[in-house]
Amino acid sequence: MADQKKCAHAACTCMTDKKYCSKFCEDRKDTAEIACECGHPGCKGDIAS
Ligand SMILES: [Zn+2]
Ligand SMILES: [Zn+2]
Ligand SMILES: [Zn+2]
Repeated sequence: MADQKKCAHAACTCMTDKKYCSKFCEDRKDTAEIACECGHPGCKGDIAS
């Protein structure tokens, strides 16, 4: 069974067995964005209403 943990992107709430859930997050690892746009269902990176 894979060891699932939160994506390392600060704004992303995806669970993944890699460091990042997607190339999107990996590319933005050094960017402190307030919203994640990785596009995965269930990701709550978007804190806007
Ligand atoms: Zn995300
Ligand atoms: Zn992510
Ligand atoms: Zn994601």
